[in-house]
Amino acid sequence: MPEMPDIAAYISALEPRMVGQALEQVRIASAFLLRTAQPPITNAEGHVVRELRRIGKRIAIGLDNDLWLVLHLMIAGRLHWKLPGAKLAGRNQLAAFDFSSGSLVLTEAGTKRRASLHVFGGEDGLRSVDPGGIEIFSRDLDAFRAALTAENRTLKRALTDPRIVSGIGNAYSDEILHAAQLSPITLTHKLKPHEWERLFAATRDTLQLWMDRLRAEAMAKFPEKVTAFRKDMAVHGRYGEPCPRCGEKVQRIRYADNETNYCAQCQTGGKVLADRSLSRLLGADWPRTLDELEALKRH
Ligand SMILES: [Zn+2]
Repeated sequence: MPEMPDIAAYISALEPRMVGQALEQVRIASAFLLRTAQPPITNAEGHVVRELRRIGKRIAIGLDNDLWLVLHLMIAGRLHWKLPGAKLAGRNQLAAFDFSSGSLVLTEAGTKRRASLHVFGGEDGLRSVDPGGIEIFSRDLDAFRAALTAENRTLKRALTDPRIVSGIGNAYSDEILHAAQLSPITLTHKLKPHEWERLFAATRDTLQLWMDRLRAEAMAKFPEKVTAFRKDMAVHGRYGEPCPRCGEKVQRIRYADNETNYCAQCQTGGKVLADRSLSRLLGADWPRTLDELEALKRH
């Protein structure tokens, strides 16, 4: 699922292409995409894009008539920049947003239709899709600790819960916990003061590092290959490969259809715990699917 660095990269690529430009037409090819009935999407047509904003893992497009279009890519949704009027061909091409300089095309791989589009007639509507997690770059350590300890959760779950922290998912939580040298199954109520400092710094540093990297790439070329698995990642998606810090093999915990990667040497005191018991511990703290986790919202 595209997470904060991926969404920031998309926004960096889209801003110079869309802001100040009129959205001429919106073409929707999938009956499942649009989740709001009012205001109608046609109200967007002919209006100039004023700004783009990230809300959690969503991209919000603000128009000069105060209409907001909010896209959530979920796991398999991706954006592409194509020639003006690009044809929507095939079932995976869900929608096109047409500008005179090009078309923003939304695709979704697979057969599940999870990606969504909401239309709001004003900025207030944006709050209804914000899961409520804290923004790591505008809050301090105390606010971070307060958010993560509101419930006693495993670190893996707390970091990826959109109600607790904004914009982090399965990939970057693995990278953050490796950078912080903390176990994914440590409970938030057990964390010591110096570990909180390490986790907070690692969360900011890891996200900043990847935002800088992906934004630089996005400025050079539209991010067509957004993936949760990047070759420069330390542990995520690198099961069995050497840890870049200590050289030991990267481990995994499997549960339902997810996998968490970690280095036993760097994160769990050298202990490779039994996959099954770990998975039970983490699984008890997790919804069965990433979709369910993403659907959580603070009420
Ligand atoms: Zn290691």
